[in-house]
Formats: sequence, C-alpha cells, structure tokens
Amino acid sequence: MNIFELINIGSELLKDKKIPSHVLDSELLLSKTLKKSREEILINNDQNINENNVFKFKRYVKRRSNNEPIAYILGEKEFWSKKFKVNRYTLIPRPETELLVSKMIDKFKDKKSFILDIGTGSGCIIISLLSNLKQSHGIGVEISKQATIAAKINRDKFGLQGRLKILNKSFKNIFFYKFDLIISNPPYIKRKDIKNLSDDIKRFEPRIALDGGNDGLDLIRKVIYKSKNILKIKGTLALEIGNEQIKKVSKILIDNNFRIENVIKDYKNNIRCVIAIYN
Ligand code: GLN
Repeated sequence: MNIFELINIGSELLKDKKIPSHVLDSELLLSKTLKKSREEILINNDQNINENNVFKFKRYVKRRSNNEPIAYILGEKEFWSKKFKVNRYTLIPRPETELLVSKMIDKFKDKKSFILDIGTGSGCIIISLLSNLKQSHGIGVEISKQATIAAKINRDKFGLQGRLKILNKSFKNIFFYKFDLIISNPPYIKRKDIKNLSDDIKRFEPRIALDGGNDGLDLIRKVIYKSKNILKIKGTLALEIGNEQIKKVSKILIDNNFRIENVIKDYKNNIRCVIAIYN
C-alpha cells in the first residue's frame, strides 16, 4: 500500500467517526508513523509503506477515531511558533493563551524581570515568554509530576536551563521570592459545566487543569491571594479567565489591592484575560 492510499483509508475512517479535520489528521498521523514531515510524505505519495508501519498507522487512526486529541497522539502542539511536547497530564496549549503571552512580551520587552508561571503544564507560557525576554528569568510551578516531565523536556529543548526552573509542587509552597510578573492559566471551568465540554476535552484532558470548583473561581482566588505575598509592589498579575468571569474576578482583584490595568479579548470578542497591578 502506498502513502496516497493509506491517507485515504485513514481519512475515510475518521470521516465516518465525524472527525472534522479527517484529511489533515490522517496526513499528520502518517507523518508521525513514518517520522517524516507532512510535506515530505505528500510529495512522495506513491511510496510504498511496509506492513509494520501500516499497522502502526492504523493504531494511531483508531485512537483518533476514539476522539483522542491529535496533539496527544502526536505528542506535541504548536504554541507561539514553537512545538511543545505534551502528554496526557498537560493541558493542550490553546491559541487564546497566545494572546496573553503576546501582551506580556510587549509589556516586559527589554526589561530584566523575574517571572512566575503558576500551573505551568507543558511550560508553554513561561517558555514562550523567556524565549522572547532574553534578560529575564523565571519559575514554572506545577503540581503534576508527569506534567513537569514534559515542561522540563520543553525547557531543555529550547535551551532555557539557565533561566528557567521547573518546580514540582503546589504554588502555595512558593515563599521567599518576589516576582515582577505572575502569570497563570488556571483551571477555571465550573465543575458542573465540565460534562458539557466536548468529548475530546472532557475524556482526555487532565481534569485538574480544567476544574475550577463550584463557581469556577477556586483557583483564581487562591492565585490572587498568593500573589499578594510574592509579587513586588507594582508587580503584574496576568490571568487567563473564563468567558463571563471578568466581573467577579475584577471584584476579587480590587478587594485585594490590585488595580486592573488591561483586559484582553479573544477571537470571539469575549474578555479572556485580565492584567492587574498590585499596589
Ligand atoms: N499553563 C498551561 C497552559 O496554559 C497549563 C494550564 C492549565 O493546566 N490550566 O497551557
């Protein structure tokens, strides 16, 4: 069987399972199987594939047809133009989060800052920041041991060993530091809403990275309280939040001596990030 035929077989199987990106996914899964780029296999699509690889490819297709996110099968996801290793214990980096990263790169450009990323997951936020803010250094704190394994691999892959520490602990146990910027994409989904998420999210992404408790604000509150102790005066707290949480989050911030500096809207015009200054 050749590449062309195999891509078609995979794509048809995924189409039957109502996977919208069935052609692209089939191409990506075959490129993973053959350890060659998608472009390379598409150009040589008359090349024959051995039985072993056909078998391997079909196993990947089976996983995808079961709604497992393509990023977990490929083991990577692109974020801010870098490919990050991901695993079942890390949230898959989202384009919305890039908006927050982009704003913070602008804000801290040419500064020498000390940055904390709370719940670093794959490390996508802090690694993207430090890759662009060359004079800065930081810490990514993450409670899941398995996620920190991915974060450390990513840190090393992008040569940030000297400027980035990944700590496997709760952010509540960070003391003695004072940061210029604390950034976080915390879990913020209301517990009762998790069942309404799409299958690929709710069945595969780590619950601990999504579940924000009864009102979705459990972790946001804790991050705000903690930040008061470990931010420098006039330090910045940058949070990704859920659509429709801005009012409540602003109130918590203001009640805790923060001033709202800015908000960021996502591609659908919902407020999805808040940037606050500690007074
Ligand atoms: N910081 C990581 C990200 O934005 C993980 C966030 C999380 O697990 N809630 O992708």
